[in-house]
Amino acid sequence: MYPFTLVKVNDTAAAIKSASGNEHAKFIGGGTNLVDLMKMNIEKPEKLIDLNRLALKKIEKLSNGNILVGALVTNTDLAYHPLIRSHYPLLSEAILAGASPQLRNVATTGGNLLQRTRCYYFYDTATPCNKREPGSGCSAISGYSRIHAILGTSEQCIATHPSDMCVAMTALEAIIHVEGKDGKRIIAFSDFHSLPGEHPHIENTLAPADLIIAAEIPALGFAANSTYVKVRDRSSFDFALASAAVALDVQAGSVKHARIALGGVGTKPWRALAAEQALIDKPATMSHFELAADEELKNAKTTLYNSFKKELAKRTLISALQKTGGMV
Ligand SMILES: Cc1cc2nc3c(=O)[nH]c(=O)nc-3n(C[C@H](O)[C@H](O)[C@H](O)COP(=O)(O)OP(=O)(O)OC[C@H]3O[C@@H](n4cnc5c(N)ncnc54)[C@H](O)[C@@H]3O)c2cc1C
Ligand code: SF4
Repeated sequence: MYPFTLVKVNDTAAAIKSASGNEHAKFIGGGTNLVDLMKMNIEKPEKLIDLNRLALKKIEKLSNGNILVGALVTNTDLAYHPLIRSHYPLLSEAILAGASPQLRNVATTGGNLLQRTRCYYFYDTATPCNKREPGSGCSAISGYSRIHAILGTSEQCIATHPSDMCVAMTALEAIIHVEGKDGKRIIAFSDFHSLPGEHPHIENTLAPADLIIAAEIPALGFAANSTYVKVRDRSSFDFALASAAVALDVQAGSVKHARIALGGVGTKPWRALAAEQALIDKPATMSHFELAADEELKNAKTTLYNSFKKELAKRTLISALQKTGGMV
């Protein structure tokens, strides 16, 4: 591990000031991703700015009914909060489907948003990787790619976005509150993570020294009828091969509103707009669920090793639709 200095800050202004103008500075929340990457010499910050003293640990209901989740709220506290459990089961279930209780106890909301891919080659510094070393090439495209993405890929990178929490937040159209050198701003969740395109090392739309302050979860009445289904090689402590976050508003047997996102298959948390469109005003039946899944996955681009994911993602989505459609 490279030597680094650790700075403790007491407020957001000090955190941003400490990071400003230093491209080798990084914030640290729970450290469950960043420290691993530092040990492997993939991340080499010279300065770590510890956020744990900041007053960003609250979950509060706003006057408009939205829920504001501080960036330092732990994954455990968010998953078990009564408002989240009752109004947004898909978010609670997604978080609890990830990592382990010990990791969730320290992992933060802000850190979860920025966790990095689990592509094997990204971690193997002896192999080319455009995300780790821009312009060096992608070892996964011609290599072993069983866990890799089938949606949103590019010629430069096919790495999957690893977060479960972010899949639920995509479906819920969360809003990310950010504070930086030029003040405060909000970023729609769909604009927060970037597709790899020609520049896979650019993973989000944050500017240098931008601090995530909170995630705002909009009020969505029908989100109480929601679920997260995750398929993985082991039943715990493993990342998704395919997952689906679904909230459905079914009235008189017909789908009135739908929010759907997929995980484990996209280069970013994947909003399934085509599946949503295919379901609106249609009967909540197995045949319509199958059509919606087909519609979403029809343009999936698979490799020799991950072609199974296309069918797996469809079945995972159908399973989540069955649960929320009152069929299970
Ligand atoms: C063994 C293992 C299994 C796991 N399994 C899963 C899984 O199944 N599903 C899943 O979703 N996740 C899984 N995870 C990942 C885990 O959820 C993340 O490591 C965790 O959420 C990251 O949060 P953190 O606070 O520890 O982030 P850190 O490691 O502290 O930081 C991560 C990144 O976020 C930046 N950062 C942190 N906070 C802020 C902020 N407020 N503003 C700006 N930048 C910030 C840091 O600079 C760093 O770049 C697993 C992790 C491990 C180690
Ligand atoms: S898929 Fe992306 S992260 Fe993996 S080797 Fe290729 S460029 Fe690197």
